[in-house]
Amino acid sequence: MDKYNKIPGDLKKDDIYVTKPYMPSIEEYTKEILPLWESHMLTNCGQIHQKFECLLKQYLQVDHLLLMTNGHLALELAIQAFHLAGEVITTPFTFASTTHAIVRSGLTPVFCDISEQDFTLNAECIEACITDRTTAIVPVHVYGHVCDIDGIQKIADKYHLKVIYDAAHTFGETWKNKSVAEYGDASILSFHATKVFHSIEGGAVICHSPEIESNLSGLRNFGIRSEFYVDEVGTNAKMDEFRAAMGICNLRHVKEEIQLRREVHTYYQSKLRNIPGIQMPEIQESSIFQSNYAYFPIIFNSRAACEAAYSELREHNIYARKYFYPLTSEFNCYKNYSALSDTPIARSISERVLTLPIYSGLETCQIDTICCLLQKSNLRR
Ligand SMILES: *Cc1c(COP(=O)(O)O)cnc(C)c1O
Repeated sequence: MDKYNKIPGDLKKDDIYVTKPYMPSIEEYTKEILPLWESHMLTNCGQIHQKFECLLKQYLQVDHLLLMTNGHLALELAIQAFHLAGEVITTPFTFASTTHAIVRSGLTPVFCDISEQDFTLNAECIEACITDRTTAIVPVHVYGHVCDIDGIQKIADKYHLKVIYDAAHTFGETWKNKSVAEYGDASILSFHATKVFHSIEGGAVICHSPEIESNLSGLRNFGIRSEFYVDEVGTNAKMDEFRAAMGICNLRHVKEEIQLRREVHTYYQSKLRNIPGIQMPEIQESSIFQSNYAYFPIIFNSRAACEAAYSELREHNIYARKYFYPLTSEFNCYKNYSALSDTPIARSISERVLTLPIYSGLETCQIDTICCLLQKSNLRR
């Protein structure tokens, strides 16, 4: 993500970043945006927007989906659509967006620990975080690892809590024959350029009731219901036509992109399996789970080994990322919240994790280099 904060020209061609956004051919994209020179309808949920929303509903097999200008606002609005107050139980092992969306909606995050196996919210730790102010749970399917959906729902039912999933990492994944983003009271997706599927910037909320869908459609357009009628403190979260067009193009190729990532994933696993001191989470596809191979996290035995590998790769212009270090509960702005929360597993994983480059164009020889460097930095220790 911070590669986009660099000044233009700073991205070097031979450098290897954690991801490389898929691009359709320029001809394909041009064809999609051509009607805009006729219509002059550039945004405000025009025809391309409507087409993209329709295609996504078909692709994901969901009934209620609203496009948003990015995943972060999708999450803020998904939370706001339920008119919650009080405390929200969530994971600190995530991207800044998750915690910010809770706090920016006027709610208090309560950080709960994660599972050592898949790094998602540990359902067994949730009950200890519940108080009489708790109104919702915001879990994250981190790296596309599916949360303990049944375990979380059981607790939510018992205490009458809403469940809003940050499903930003799960595009194209299915669990028990449904899109992973179909679970909970609502789920959000991110279509940011660094995600498996993108519309440059973009996102969506998937929900289950016409009432919430209607709230969301108001919230994303300033709460404007009709020309002279505004009923909600909304914002501007509309996706424009150019991004929707990029989404439509990329949707045609996403299956292939995921298939190619799968090959990269398998190759990494075969190369890394025998390097001592490196663990890979055992997330296997099964009859009930279809993965999208969005990330390739590895866990080192120690913080120092992780640090050494990170530096070794950097020296060779390979930019693995420490997703997610630090924990969001360790951010300056959340230090006062986290005094109440103890998340030793999250902290330990966060200090020892690296996510390796993974995308469809990553070549076998580049993966060989990455694995060699990891081995070298490990042997030195
Ligand atoms: C990317 C991401 C988001 C936010 O998505 P944007 O589209 O970048 O606004 C939210 N949560 C997680 C876990 C993410 O990785």
